[in-house]
Amino acid sequence: MEFIRIPGTGIRVSRIGLGTWAIGGWMWGGTDEQASIKTILAALESGINLIDTAPIYGFGRSEEIVGKAIAQHGKRDSVVIATKAGLEWMETRVWRNSGRQRLLKEIDDSLKRLGTDYIDIYQIHWPDQSVAFEETAQTLLDLKQRGTIKAIGVSNYSPEQMAAFGKTALINTAQPPYNIFERGIEKDILPYCKNSNISVLAYGALCRGLLSGRMKPDTSFTGDDLRKTDPKFRQPRYGQYLNAVEALDRFAQKNYGKRVIHLAVRWILDQGADIALWGARRPGQIDAVREVEGWSLNENAKREIDRILTDAIKEPVGPEFMAPPARARA
Ligand code: NAP
Repeated sequence: MEFIRIPGTGIRVSRIGLGTWAIGGWMWGGTDEQASIKTILAALESGINLIDTAPIYGFGRSEEIVGKAIAQHGKRDSVVIATKAGLEWMETRVWRNSGRQRLLKEIDDSLKRLGTDYIDIYQIHWPDQSVAFEETAQTLLDLKQRGTIKAIGVSNYSPEQMAAFGKTALINTAQPPYNIFERGIEKDILPYCKNSNISVLAYGALCRGLLSGRMKPDTSFTGDDLRKTDPKFRQPRYGQYLNAVEALDRFAQKNYGKRVIHLAVRWILDQGADIALWGARRPGQIDAVREVEGWSLNENAKREIDRILTDAIKEPVGPEFMAPPARARA
């Protein structure tokens, strides 16, 4: 497993982190607690030490399950827990709120659910422009100075928003969307983070499973699974993305003896993101992690990947559909 240090902190973290959004169940067609705990334990056994979660994932469910898994694992200090704050909800209605009062309530709730007295990486989930960035940043700085959190992170922030936040508190990590199909951050966020010594945790490494190689034209999703409305999973665009996946899979097999899932994660790491967040909820899904190590993609390979994408995808679309609304509508 490859590791990095997060600048400005004592945190040493694996370059692949386990994402636990689906483990929360909500927007993923439900959750299976025992399979989820086994998945987290399998990830920790594979050498992954970073678990990314959030209160909003299943409205507390994901954090509770992560807490149970870490309790079973028994070594809290060997795990880097990344969680988030700044989204409020009522039943299944969600809106942004990064005000001080909200954040101070959320940290207490997260600590309880996770069964711990500190959070390694505490991230503002989505920028909330209705609150001064100074107030949000000062609250996280206070938590850091108390030792309740070890690193300050933001997620889905633009460079301008990071600069505004950074006037009050140094940002250690940023969590933007990034995978072979969703590359918007290359023009601004990735260079900004490199220049500012901010570690990038790339989310959606497999583009919600599209880059796993498991998806077929007739794959269907159940319950509230967000892929029922994800614009990439709707024809005719879905067919274009599946063609790209097939071509990438052939390319990975021919040149590296690997599959598209391994290529997708290797690509994120070799493009300059510090960490790839890989969502999984069944222990067998972790087996593929070991095939990401020990090889790399050179510039020619990256150009060939770009060519495959341009040939196959005529109607590219980004991950914007996931953004929650800005303000409370109680
Ligand atoms: P992802 O990593 O792109 O894809 C996860 C899905 O890929 C899994 O649920 C699974 O689908 C499939 N998969 C994983 N391993 C597989 C394997 N070995 N074989 C076949 N299929 C496999 O999606 P993500 O969970 O959305 O993103 C990763 C993490 O990033 C999240 O869990 C979360 O921690 C973070 N994230 C953060 C934000 C934010 O706003 N900050 C937004 C999105 C995500 P099935 O379970 O259906 O089989």
